[in-house]
Amino acid sequence: MSTFQAPKGTYDLLPPRSATFLAVREAIAAPLRNSGYGYVETPGFENVELFSRGVGESTDIVTKEMYTLTTKGGDQLALRPEGTASVLRAALQGNLHKAGLLPVKLWYSGSYYRYERAQAGRYRHFSQVGAEAIGAEDPALDAELIILADQAYRTLGLRNFRILLNSLGDKECRPVYREALQAFLRGLDLDEETVRRAEINPLRVLDDKRESVQEQLTGAPMLRDYLCDACKAYHEEVRALVTAAGVAFEDDEKLVRGLDYYTRTTFEFVHDGLGSQSAVGGGGRYDGLSEMIGGPALPSVGWALGVDRTVLALEAEGVALDIPAATSVFAVALGEEARRVLFGKVTELRRAGVAADFGYGGKGLKGAMKDANRSGARFAVVAGERDLAEGVVQFKDMASGEQTAVPLAELVDTVRARLA
Ligand code: ATP
Ligand code: MG
Repeated sequence: MSTFQAPKGTYDLLPPRSATFLAVREAIAAPLRNSGYGYVETPGFENVELFSRGVGESTDIVTKEMYTLTTKGGDQLALRPEGTASVLRAALQGNLHKAGLLPVKLWYSGSYYRYERAQAGRYRHFSQVGAEAIGAEDPALDAELIILADQAYRTLGLRNFRILLNSLGDKECRPVYREALQAFLRGLDLDEETVRRAEINPLRVLDDKRESVQEQLTGAPMLRDYLCDACKAYHEEVRALVTAAGVAFEDDEKLVRGLDYYTRTTFEFVHDGLGSQSAVGGGGRYDGLSEMIGGPALPSVGWALGVDRTVLALEAEGVALDIPAATSVFAVALGEEARRVLFGKVTELRRAGVAADFGYGGKGLKGAMKDANRSGARFAVVAGERDLAEGVVQFKDMASGEQTAVPLAELVDTVRARLA
């Protein structure tokens, strides 16, 4: 047998690229942490029913993309395909939604699983950072989330992304629109599967990427013309707040998202350098989801940004993140005695909070200095028997090449002073 490969549709995060992933996760999380969002972590799998009820029976996610399994005990589980249903379940289960504490604002970061047709930017295991504001109907919350996502992308240095915005109406006006759209779709020449979709979830047909479908949709009734006054006013307020923050967006009346739970505000972040996998993130309001999974009415809004595609977008724009070298000091010992002494010093440096690494494997000076170079360390500490006999180590500035003898006892303080 040949060596194992990562399963189809998955890939490993390895250094040095993995550092970019961490930095992207961190950059998306930072504005959330800074805006009253608390960290939530839920299991990687849930009862399958949470998603079939929450995400929706007719969605691609539930019908085609979910990894389901039956445990030895007979439970039907699914690897989580998305975060919102789990986070809301956790908030309900943990009683975070008591009156007076709303909205509950949570952020998360993790792995998600969808059995998809694997291609560039579309994986079976991928990574999202998400945010949910649970239990308040307030256009400022919708605006806050859009503004924070924009801030995250901009902090990373992304420029060529666009924000698409739409309102999907609520339980008053959407059913009326749904009927009108269905009547229109019944008059079209559609394949069997699409006809079925038109009956179960007609809005999804608007999202069909195929030219043959899109060209028939000219003249379809538009949701905009059906929005009730309350939804219109709500949407106008969201638009006004986002605009006032200087965040540009495009009204996209065809934007419908692939999850059934969305109501009113929906948005997507698209990047033009990613080909057909252009969505780097998306979200919206889901006022009915709590009730769909057996909870009380809790109007909520959230988003999830894809970490993998954000990294691809950075690469497409040629943005290199400024990632500081992991190691500040690299110690090179020549001989057994020096090894023991310097290894002790490295431990001391680490305990003092200095990022330090050590030349392992008994290499000679040349090989060990190569390792020091590769580590990106600002300073190398080199010592052999003769240095130790004099009670010093050689302290080398890697950039200038300048080298000085530093008393062993003063090494930690010297390093700290030079790094400050
Ligand atoms: P798409 O239309 O591309 O299938 P989606 O609507 O299914 O996206 P969401 O469920 O809204 O995506 O997830 C939010 C974000 O998570 C997406 O914008 C994308 O960046 C990322 N994402 C979703 N599915 C995948 C996947 N299979 N591989 C990589 N990233 C993904
Ligand atoms: Mg999808």
